[in-house]
Amino acid sequence: MQYAESVVDLIGNTPLVRLSSITRHLGENAPLVLAKVEYLNPGGSVKDRIAVRMVDAAEASGELKPGGTIVEPTSGNTGIGLALVAQQRGYRCIFVCPDKVGQEKINVLKAYGAEVVVCPTAVDPADPRSYYSVSDRLTRETPGAWKPDQYSNPNNPRSHYETTGPEIWAQTEGRITHFVTGVGTGGTISGIGRYLKEASGGRVQVIGADPEGSVYSGGTGRPYLVEGVGEDFWPDAYDRSIADDIVPVSDGDSFAMTRRLAREEGLLVGGSCGMAVAAALRVAEGLTEDDVLVVLLPDGGRGYLNKIFNDAWMADYGFVEATGGETVGELLH
Ligand code: PMP
Repeated sequence: MQYAESVVDLIGNTPLVRLSSITRHLGENAPLVLAKVEYLNPGGSVKDRIAVRMVDAAEASGELKPGGTIVEPTSGNTGIGLALVAQQRGYRCIFVCPDKVGQEKINVLKAYGAEVVVCPTAVDPADPRSYYSVSDRLTRETPGAWKPDQYSNPNNPRSHYETTGPEIWAQTEGRITHFVTGVGTGGTISGIGRYLKEASGGRVQVIGADPEGSVYSGGTGRPYLVEGVGEDFWPDAYDRSIADDIVPVSDGDSFAMTRRLAREEGLLVGGSCGMAVAAALRVAEGLTEDDVLVVLLPDGGRGYLNKIFNDAWMADYGFVEATGGETVGELLH
């Protein structure tokens, strides 16, 4: 019989799939462009990998003891990863998130059995009501509490150095020449990038994709709509010595490519995936058939149905025309 002992054992070993349609315009000498499909992790994103690695390390060091509580200021994919690992290992989980986070995301965390504390967005980070302050206080005051802190935890990049990087190297039989990924905490690019640089003797080029306005591509942290990537500060998880280049991508280009991935490649993925693929295509335009480019797709598109895949939302921000396009009724006339 073939089965895993726990859903945690299903994390990682995600497949690569060729992106054929969106690279067609590159012609006969086009490089091979492959996507690493991270939404196939059990929690639906690349963040399952860092969750299990951070928990394993905290158990080993004694920071997290049986019956302990995980406290993290997150509303997104890292929360889901931590929630599923916590549930399987018998830990309590408390997530602290700002009130701008959608109810759907909060419901997902609660569905896994986590507790969610919602804090006001419109206060200074130093304010005792801010979500940073509240998560610090909960960590201090809850017995047996442990805060993973994905932004500074070395096991975030380490999980990618130990799993995602070696997987990509083995899956491409060492023929990868370029690696493209979005940058949020920086864990993905730092861990995978370091592994691929070492394995290839420095040959693999590592390219970060960043929302226009974020610090990694020289911005000040100006707001953008793509979720999960870009920062307004430099996290410890980001190793500045790894990226050979950082490509800034606009929200409009990110969302247009996200929609194309669903319609042309059958990949219903999130906005940071569209961003990474838009950057990957820019890189691919300068490459040849001798090159193999891998682009990482961090999460699935179900969490963005009311935004990127909603014509009214896209029209509100000027990303698509407000006409709504042809309906089936119009086509029948
Ligand atoms: N895309 C999404 C949707 C994410 O949640 C994250 C994680 N913040 C990233 C990309 C970036 O990954 P990393 O934090 O490892 O840089």
